[in-house]
Amino acid sequence: MDVDTKAEELASALGIDKQEVKADLESLLEFDVPLEEAAQSVRRKHGGGGGSSTPETLDLDSITTTQDSVNVTVRVLTQGTRTIRYQGEDVTIREGELADGSGTISYTAWQDFGFEPGDSIVVGNAGVREWDGRPELNLGQSTTVSMADDTVTVDHPIGGDSDLIDLEPGDRGRNVEVRVQEVESRTIDGRDGETTILSGVLADETARLPFTDWDPHPDIEVGADLRIEDVYIREFRGSPSVNLSEFSAVEPLSDPVAITDSAPQLSIAEAVDNGGLFDVEVVGNVLEVRDGSGLIERCPDCGRVIQNGQCRTHGAVEGEDDLRIKAIVDDGTDTVTAIIGSELTAEIYGGDVSDAKDAARDAMDKEVVADAIRDNLVGGAYRVRGTLSVDEYGANLTVEEFAEADEDPAALATAALAEVRQ
Ligand SMILES: [Zn+2]
Repeated sequence: MDVDTKAEELASALGIDKQEVKADLESLLEFDVPLEEAAQSVRRKHGGGGGSSTPETLDLDSITTTQDSVNVTVRVLTQGTRTIRYQGEDVTIREGELADGSGTISYTAWQDFGFEPGDSIVVGNAGVREWDGRPELNLGQSTTVSMADDTVTVDHPIGGDSDLIDLEPGDRGRNVEVRVQEVESRTIDGRDGETTILSGVLADETARLPFTDWDPHPDIEVGADLRIEDVYIREFRGSPSVNLSEFSAVEPLSDPVAITDSAPQLSIAEAVDNGGLFDVEVVGNVLEVRDGSGLIERCPDCGRVIQNGQCRTHGAVEGEDDLRIKAIVDDGTDTVTAIIGSELTAEIYGGDVSDAKDAARDAMDKEVVADAIRDNLVGGAYRVRGTLSVDEYGANLTVEEFAEADEDPAALATAALAEVRQ
């Protein structure tokens, strides 16, 4: 809730001028007083008493961001620990998900209340704030937590053990059992100067996901089978990525982790709706091979495709020849732009960069390369696997595998959609 909305709400509750309330609120906010606390002070100052600030006891599904604070009786589903920088200080917070019979809600606890996943607890005076468009509980200094007399029955898994396919950005306090498929060490400019991090790819039986380890754990090596406890999930280029911190526990597993060698196959609509996927397969018809395909030139400094010898960042440069395809793929549910790199493009074209240059020279036209690719691809049905990212300009699939499909794409997509909707 913003200051303006809060001021209006207080003004009408207290029967005084909104501008006056807003000025009071703003002067408190300048001293970094949280909005809820500021509102309570203003309420007290104007004789509003505790009346409207007494928290109600609610089921989770009736909590909305219009409430200031609530009392709930819940089961702790997950708990992750993380250090964040808050107003210049490192603060260790605990965060995760709570549930009752009516639903779930995420929480952030600004101190250690001593509860763990599986505990049934009564939470008094938890602040409600909006996080990612949904209400979230904020457990701070004025919050009380005690054990509930009875176990709160929930129909959600407790403890945070998760398959990779089920992880979503915003998930916290999760545990995974995975094989490390790729890992590289990088030095980055962190908030405390230069620091080394690991990044790569994790796999289990259900999916493959990128990961970042912000506090490198020595057991993270290519081929290692690991149980990793307390990871949090962020969005990375539109797909979920697994994040390890100093609080993540990494244990080698004695049994190998079964891993998938295929990507989940989805309809394009479903994949795009997901907002991005690290590893996905779609089957569709190539409708069009777009401009900027075939024989192209890249900037030698940044690798971006250049036009007329001009890089958008580096100005006039001596371009390097390369092959690429941008193909629009349609499966009847939606379309995606498949971006096919040098090697696969050479296979599809039936020749490498120097063959393409020869052909362009003979015809005195670069476009003959793209035209040859068009003749090969347009109208055909293909199985396309890669990383999907979705932004305001549309959906792009960076292709890893590209093969002719025997099946009818529209029928496959309809079947996939029907399965999802069951
Ligand atoms: Zn450049």
